[in-house]
Amino acid sequence: MKCDLCDGEYREKTVVRNYKWCGKTIVIEDVPALVCDRCGDTLIREETVVAIDELLRKEVAPREYAPVYRFPAKVA
Ligand SMILES: [Zn+2]
Repeated sequence: MKCDLCDGEYREKTVVRNYKWCGKTIVIEDVPALVCDRCGDTLIREETVVAIDELLRKEVAPREYAPVYRFPAKVA
């Protein structure tokens, strides 16, 4: 796929993205994206955005609101 901003070509890569979530910055690694090999412009597919949104809601939000601690099985 050709880049709109320059004459570069988009390539399949994984990137690191920062998201603001519940007032915190969440860093997600290995996000699949298309990155221009010349200007570095990054495109994230719609389904990837949806998957990240789901991940944040399932993994991050519950922990923020209701942290779960396991009672130690072996208490001396
Ligand atoms: Zn470009």
